[in-house]
Formats: sequence, structure tokens, C-alpha cells
Amino acid sequence: MKAAVIHGSRDVRIEDVEIPDLKPGELRIKIGAALTCGTDLKVFKRGYHAKMIQPPAVFGHELAGRISGIGDGVQGWSSGERVIVANSAPCGECFFCQHEQEALCDDLLFLNGAYAEYINVPARIVEKNTIQLKDETNFADAALTEPLACVVQGVSDCRLWPGDRVLVIGAGPIGLMFTALAHNLGCHVTVAGRGEERLDAAKRLGAYHIVNMTGKDDVVAGVRERYADGNSFDVVIEATGKPEVWEAAVALVRKGGLVNFFGGCPSDTSVSLDTGRLHYSSITLKASFHHTPDSIRKALEFIEKGVIRASEFVNGEAPLSELPALLNSMVEGNRAVKTLIDVTR
Ligand SMILES: [Zn+2]
Ligand SMILES: [Zn+2]
Repeated sequence: MKAAVIHGSRDVRIEDVEIPDLKPGELRIKIGAALTCGTDLKVFKRGYHAKMIQPPAVFGHELAGRISGIGDGVQGWSSGERVIVANSAPCGECFFCQHEQEALCDDLLFLNGAYAEYINVPARIVEKNTIQLKDETNFADAALTEPLACVVQGVSDCRLWPGDRVLVIGAGPIGLMFTALAHNLGCHVTVAGRGEERLDAAKRLGAYHIVNMTGKDDVVAGVRERYADGNSFDVVIEATGKPEVWEAAVALVRKGGLVNFFGGCPSDTSVSLDTGRLHYSSITLKASFHHTPDSIRKALEFIEKGVIRASEFVNGEAPLSELPALLNSMVEGNRAVKTLIDVTR
């Protein structure tokens, strides 16, 4: 089969790869939809991800498809069934799994290889994070389950209430998903971000105000131009993964408010925070990471109810053969939110 293989920094090649034999407990999925993701872009730039992927390795992790092979001992699935498969599963046994923090599992098992015709799903992910789709759910919508599950976790950590004034900084796929879910909960959402297409999507998804940061760097100044009273947000969600924006998020939250540092920054970076403001304004800092089997299921519910649809997040389609060029254009600033990869071409 054809598959995308990452060899190192900015080095992804489309190669002929043997489909591995199925091991006991595994399922083979014929990929129906694979989506690009900001994490892929990070990995593409760096050439690896300490936890998720070490080159050379098949690449891509947001997928949905149809069961096309069943390993020995697998119960309850049949060939042809339509499923989503998460990109990881926790062990269920370590300290963190036992304390309802499965996203922090010491032994998270990751799955890569969505940019390919087929993928073999390891037994643990078959057991814990493979879910059957309703007949009417299409593969492209379903493939949003994994990133959305991370956002579901983030929203739950923010304890949002109807009427909350929420600032989302960043209008990439993650910022847009926060916007849609917060709006769905009845929050009053402001989005600060860049790129006309992305900001238009933010409006369609329910953002009440837009702070257009195109060509600007200072988020605090940009937001205060719009809101004279400055720190009026109950909750600020950082979805860019830049240390200076983490600092801006703290400056923009109200007394007693909550900041969620959702965007992971490059390793070995640090931030400087005003201790007086944190303490005397009683600010809560959260940093949500990854997803759990429960948030995967909740995310799929939002998709199957129609709250989140691929048409709002996927603004292009490309054949597998063009994936390396697409990743390079993303490094160079192509602001497509997500691209659907046709793995058959
Ligand atoms: Zn992803
Ligand atoms: Zn564990």
C-alpha cells in the first residue's frame, strides 16, 4: 500500500509499504478519512515527537474508516463496520489511570499511520478507543473526534457556565472547536486570531466579537483596543502554544477568573508571570493535555448530534501524493484549518 513515512525534520515521503500481518487482538481499518492536524505540523518541523512518534515511522493520526481485517481473539466486531479509532489508549493500571487522569497515563500507547490505505490498530486501542459510527455519520466528520476530544477535556477543565465571557486566543482548529463548544454551552465568546478564513469560521461557529490580530503581535493591546475595560473575561483559553501568548492570557483574565494554557509551547521554553496578580486576583491556572476514553466518547456525541461538522474545519482536500508539499506549505504559513487527505490517490 501507499503510506506517508516520516524520516526526519521536513522529510515526509510517500512510499510503498507492506501491510503488516494482523497480531492477536488487532483490527485492520481501511482508511475512509484522514485529516491534517497542528500536531502533525509540529512533528513535521521537528522530525519527531518524544511521546508520540520516532522516525522512520508511518505518519498521521486523525482517522475514521471501515474494518477490513480481524485479528485472532477479537470479539464483537465484524468486517465492513464503520468506526473511529483514537490515536492512543491508556494502560488502565498506572497511578494516573487509577486516579481518573488517564490523559497522563505513564504508558499511553500511541497510534500513527493515518496517511495510508490501511492501518492495523493495536489490541489496547481496539479494546478502549475504537467506536462504531452511526450509519449517517460520515468519515470526515468522525475523523474530528480525536482533536475534539482534547477540546472536550479542556472545556470540562474550564468549568464553563452559560453567560460566561470567554476569550479564545488562536483561531486554528483547536481555537475554533473551543469557540463552537463554548457557544453551544451558552457562553459569550470573543476570538483573537489571524487569517480571514479562520476568523470567518469563528464567526459562523458563534464568536460574538472578533479581534483581528493579522499583522499584529501584541494580543493584550489588540484585545484592549476592543475592550476598554481590559480584563473582563471570566475564562481565557490560550490556543496558540506561544510563551508570550500564555503571558498575555494571564493579563487578560478578570479577578477570580481562569486561564487554560491549552497550546503546548516548544520544549525548554518558560514564562514569566506577575505573582501579585495571580495571588491577589485569585486566578486559576489550568493546562489541559490530551484526551481520555470518556472525552473521546463525548466528542463523538457532539459530532453525531451535528454540533461539530467537518465542513466548518476542513477547507480543502489533497491526494496523499501531495501531502509532503502540503506540509511544507503549512510550515510556510498556509493557514488552511484542516485538509482531508485522499489516501487512495
Ligand atoms: Zn490531531
Ligand atoms: Zn496508565
